[in-house]
Amino acid sequence: MRTQVFTLTLAMVAVIGCSKSDLQTDDTSIESSEPIVMDEMPPMMDMGGHPEHGPHGGELVELGKEAFHIEMLHGTGAVAMYVLDGSATKPVAIEADKLTVSLKHDGEVKSFELPADPQAEDESGKSSRFTSTEVEMDQWMEAGAEGAVILQINGKSFTGKITHDHDHGHEGHSH
Ligand SMILES: [Zn+2]
Repeated sequence: MRTQVFTLTLAMVAVIGCSKSDLQTDDTSIESSEPIVMDEMPPMMDMGGHPEHGPHGGELVELGKEAFHIEMLHGTGAVAMYVLDGSATKPVAIEADKLTVSLKHDGEVKSFELPADPQAEDESGKSSRFTSTEVEMDQWMEAGAEGAVILQINGKSFTGKITHDHDHGHEGHSH
């Protein structure tokens, strides 16, 4: 299998000069210090995976097995969470009127609520964006607080784990 991928990649380089393949063809061109997993598609490619950050540049939280994502934005005195699809590119409007987020910081645990803040394209009565202007929540997020957000999408309950693993935003990923 690996040999086949290599052969195919090299063939692609030879035929169309695909520059994306440079990262995995040889030991001389590896730029990242992260080990490159050859059994999966390279992370740079947009097929089968998704970018490390959401469309607004925020950190991504996995919901279910890549069923949905939440993109988190903070650091502006407010916290915004966008519900995204499995590819982490398209907004998904849900019926919830708020999201509840539990965070832990310095041994203290607290729940924060983010009321629905629908985007222009959201179906009426639904929202794909939830925002909180609670300064304390923003400060906790900025300080690297970890926790969980629980939400219902199409009648199904999902729990998203909030972490701040900047070294590798998609640890434990299957894709
Ligand atoms: Zn993902």
